Amino acid sequence: MRRSQPRRASSLPPRAEKKKAPPLPRLPRGARIRAQLTVERLREAYPAATELAHENPFQLLIATILSAQTTDKMVNLVTPKLFARYPTAFDLAAANPAEVEEIVKPTGFYRVKARRIIAASRKLVELFGGEVPASMEGLLQIPGIGRKTANVILGAGFNQPGFAVDTHVIRLTNLLKLVSTRDPVKIERQVCSMVPPEEWTGLSLRLILHGRRICIARRPRCEECILNDFCPSSTTRPKPGKR
Ligand code: SF4
Repeated sequence: MRRSQPRRASSLPPRAEKKKAPPLPRLPRGARIRAQLTVERLREAYPAATELAHENPFQLLIATILSAQTTDKMVNLVTPKLFARYPTAFDLAAANPAEVEEIVKPTGFYRVKARRIIAASRKLVELFGGEVPASMEGLLQIPGIGRKTANVILGAGFNQPGFAVDTHVIRLTNLLKLVSTRDPVKIERQVCSMVPPEEWTGLSLRLILHGRRICIARRPRCEECILNDFCPSSTTRPKPGKR
């Protein structure tokens, strides 16, 4: 009779490993103080508002999808006609794509965008009775909505704390050395750990406005910047230790 061979260690099934959240990078030195100063200075200078015109969360959701690869100003030119023709998710869900394409054409990528806003509206009808859900979990079920857009809708549409991380927020939080990562999820977690929830929405919306108006990519207007005296990346202030 053949003796059964002992099982080799390599043939054992791998042990189930618990998936941990990836560790966050260390905060840059002095980040908490700079975060607090940034909140205070920007609060004095900008409203906690999105520049996308909207009257309700549905309009904000659709406007946010249309804002990809174009300016808020351009979106604001087309949305009055769009929402007059399709005031609710039910109307847009049943829309003729060619008609929607014609209206959103000036925003660019109009075929894709028309498809996306119709698909998002259908999902709102299918899952949420035509209403925009007021939760991250619900918003992430809508096609075309990622964490960034969901945070904008939570903050500006529902007055719930949400720190949206777009290209401006990635640039500014790194220039101000609030974080040292370009990963949007890590930036959101780190900034939210330094700033109280009631400031999350305002800080994100104001960083976006500051990034558009003053701290412009490739040509920051440091001499006009209200964060200049403590920004480690200022181009007009001598670096510590240099004369
Ligand atoms: S000082 Fe210059 S680099 Fe720093 S936030 Fe202001 S504009 Fe941007």
